[in-house]
Parts: sequence; structure tokens; C-alpha cells
Amino acid sequence: MYDYSNFDADFVHSRVAEFRGQVERRLDGSLTEDEFKPLRLMNGLYLQLHAYMLRIAVPYGTLKSRQMRQLAYIADTWDKGYGHFTTRQNIQFNWPKLKDVPDILEALADVEMHAIQTSGNCIRNVTADHFAGAAADEIEDPRPTAELIRQWSTDHPEFAYLPRKFKVAVTGSPNDRAVTKAHDIGLRMVRNEAGEPGYEVVIGGGLGRTPMIGKVVRDFLPKADLLAYLEAILQVYNLSGRRDNKYKARIKILVHETGLEELREQIEANFERQSRLLPDVDPAIVARIEASFAEPEWDTREAPAPVLEAGLKSFVDTNVTAHKQPNYAIVSVSIKPIGGTPGDATSAQMRALADLAEKYSHDELRISHEQNVILPHVHRADIPAVYAALREAGLATANIGLVSDIIACPGMDYCALATARSIPIAQQISEVFSDLDAQRDIGPLKIKISGCINACGHHHVGHIGILGLDRAGVENYQITLGGDGTETATIGERTGHGFAYDEIVPAVERLIETYLEIRETAEETFLQTYRRTGADPFKTALYGEENKANAA
Ligand code: SF4
Repeated sequence: MYDYSNFDADFVHSRVAEFRGQVERRLDGSLTEDEFKPLRLMNGLYLQLHAYMLRIAVPYGTLKSRQMRQLAYIADTWDKGYGHFTTRQNIQFNWPKLKDVPDILEALADVEMHAIQTSGNCIRNVTADHFAGAAADEIEDPRPTAELIRQWSTDHPEFAYLPRKFKVAVTGSPNDRAVTKAHDIGLRMVRNEAGEPGYEVVIGGGLGRTPMIGKVVRDFLPKADLLAYLEAILQVYNLSGRRDNKYKARIKILVHETGLEELREQIEANFERQSRLLPDVDPAIVARIEASFAEPEWDTREAPAPVLEAGLKSFVDTNVTAHKQPNYAIVSVSIKPIGGTPGDATSAQMRALADLAEKYSHDELRISHEQNVILPHVHRADIPAVYAALREAGLATANIGLVSDIIACPGMDYCALATARSIPIAQQISEVFSDLDAQRDIGPLKIKISGCINACGHHHVGHIGILGLDRAGVENYQITLGGDGTETATIGERTGHGFAYDEIVPAVERLIETYLEIRETAEETFLQTYRRTGADPFKTALYGEENKANAA
């Protein structure tokens, strides 16, 4: 894992000192809120519905135990004893007092963390596969690439005021767990015919008001050309991205309006120039970064033959994934207990996870874009002990990838932009399907909920997506079906008119009942069934045979 150099540490601490002065001037009235706003946003501090919200970056979702413990300390000392993990591998604190924020940032800087570039029209936290460095299907660990991009993009003077925020995701596996095709730039590690590793470069993906799946702008980019190529893309976007209309400012609109071919020519021409100006990525820097992600010293114990009691077996079936080391496993810890708030972890749970990582996972933790926490390197012999400790901490819900493992944005419970509540909908759905055996019978199913059109809950790529809107002062929920956030990424299709707050959960139940009735085998997933049958039977379930034609 990456450790700060002295330069990094000095830089982050000096940013905290600078912000402390700005906060003092805001508190004594010498800065107005309008003057203060751009300064606080540069440090990840938002003003939400009820209070300030501080968004902290977890670069590529990777945390050490002491960092997780510091987050728990912050939650207890300056917030309400919990934090909220988001779909971009950040953590948000919802109740900090302005006067305390510099102290929180200082506490973060002490453990090599910060909130820089978690807001504003700049390159945001670079995200990556949450199984990076552990996955059995991995071509290469994507985190050194993500770290290189982080170092290049942090405070990059040319890209501090882009037309709009800019999100980059990296995956090192053919199975895309980083939703790369819904990012401004998605990098997918591939090998060329000579077997050399490089990147497939995807641009112009994004959800929100105009959801789009990214398009491949380069089939194969040698690793040494990465930064020159990123500069080329960003320069074209910075110059030509629309600044006249916030809703049309993302690179996806530029791709759409200019056309991929034309844009590719501009990027390639720019890249030609850039690669003469910029040297290849410095191998010494890459080597230093790669060394910081060196594999842990694997425990060579043989994994015992599994003797699994029922609860543990269910947990292993749903929450445990193959590791590249056969004696190891990846353990996904659900932060979605039945009836809980998706992504919320208490300080006690954070500490329990930190302890487990230290004892059983080579001191590593990951935050997934699905708002869960991963113990990436657990020896199979230790799984029963990990499971027992998770049960004790209330973290052993065996629902990863199932109907109650719901992504939900904060919605109207916290967010100033929300048009409807998301969290109570997620809680009600998980309570309706609280029986884990029934959930396992339903099988893999991704429900994703957003409280407004900005789509932080990724509803467009949910197998069942739910978008909360405001219709004349009343909450209304639109359903999309067939969305997919993986390597076969698809934007879900709108089914028809929306549902009232008290109608939406029964509507979801009808969709799932229909799926159970029409699936061909118990192995056919919801998404496979939807792709086979199309929307028709599901629309009948939602609107009735006679009304479905008029549902739009
Ligand atoms: S989708 Fe809308 S309501 Fe939800 S967190 Fe994003 S901006 Fe807020």
C-alpha cells in the first residue's frame, strides 16, 4: 500500500493549516458564505440539508487498519458515531461542526488521508476494483495505475477548473467490478498480442441526467503512454467541453455531440504532441509505486478441509470469493444489515473491521462501490474465526449480491439536492425480503436507488433501478429494469409511470414474484430472465395487462 513521502505529508498538513485560517475567517465573519464556498469545496466540505457534510477520499478504496480506526475516532469525536461509505469509495461524515473541520482534516493528515478534490470541477477520487491485488481473475493489480493517476491529478494546475467534475475508474480484471463504463474515463487492463499489459481506454460514460455507457477510444494503450494520453483527453475536454450549461458539461455530452471518431482524431493528434513534450511514465516512479503495493508475505499453511455449520456455509456461499492464492479467500463484509442504512458503519463496526484486518487480512481493507467493506486477504483456515467475530460485531449478514444488498444514496434524509427519500425505500425492501433463504432462492439481484436524477445510487445500472422524483410536492418513484454495471454494461429501460412512496415496495415485490414465476431454471438470474423475455411480463406485473401500454 502507498505510504506518503515527506513531500506528501508536508503538502497535506500545509493544506490543513491553510484551510484552518479560512475557517477562522469564516467564523469571525471576515469571509462571507459566498467567498468561503469555493474554499470549503476544495477541501471536500459541503453544506447539506441539515448540516455540513465532509467527504473524505479513500483512494481506490484501499485502507489500512490504523486509517479505519482514525475514521472511527473522527466519528466519535466530531460526528455522531458513524460514517457513510459511498458509491465512489469515499466516506462521508454528515454532522461535523464547521469549527471542528480543520481538526478532522488534521486527524486525517496524521494517517495519510485527506478530502482534497472530493468536490469541485476537477479530477475526483480515482476508484478501482475493490478486489484489486487479490482477485483470482486479475490480469494485474490496478492500484499502482490508480495511484499514478492520483499523484498526477492531485492539484494538477491545468485541470483544476474543468467544465465539470471528472471521474476515473480502473479495473485490472476482465470482470469489471469498478463500473468503468459509467465513468468519464474507464481504464481496463488488457494484454496485446505480444502479451504486454496495457489499457483499453473508455471515455464518455456517466449516469445522472443523461446516462451513457462509455465508448472505447483506444483498444490498446501501452502503460508508458498513460499520462500523456490522459493529458490529451483532458486537454480536449478542457478546451471543448461545454461551459454554457452545467447539465451538458460532462465529457459524455462532448462525445455524443462531437462523435467518437472526430473526438478520437483530436485526442490522438493531441497525444502525438503530448508524447513529444511529456516523457514516458518514469519507470523509477512506477517502480516505487509498485513496490508500495507489493504482495504481503503469504501464510503458507494449507487450508483445512471445510467443516461448515449452516450459518457459516451460507456466509461462505455469498460473502466469500476466490483469491489468487488458493489457500486464501476474499471476504466481503456486508454493511447492509436487514433494515439498516446502506453504507452506514458505526465507529464500533469500523474498529471491529480494523481489528479483523490487522489480525486476519494483512492489515488491508477495501471499500467497495457497492457500499460494503472487503477483507481482501483472509487465509481460509481463519474464515470461521473471522465469521464469529463478524457475528459478534453485527456484521455477518450473508447477503452480498442478493436482493437486500441494496445501493442507496443518502437521498432526502441528508442531501440538499434530493427530490425523494432513498434510505427508507432500501430499508423497507430489505425488510420485506429479510429471510436469507428466500434471498438465496431469488439469487443475484442488484437493486440501486437514487434520490434524484444525479444518480449517485447508480440506479441506471441496477437490475432494478429506482429513481426518486418530486411530482408536485409528492415523492414519486420511477423504475428502470435491465441495467448492468459490469463489463456488459447497459443502461436500464424505464418501465412507465412512477409509483407513490407507499406503492414502490409492493411494485418491487411484484417484479420479483414475476421473475420467480417465469425463470426457466433456478440458476437463471433476474437479469438473464429479463434479457430473455424483455420487459413485457414485468410491465404486466407493474401496471396490469390492460394498463401497461399506457404506462408511459
Ligand atoms: S442522487 Fe441526488 S439525492 Fe442522491 S446523493 Fe446524489 S445528489 Fe443527493
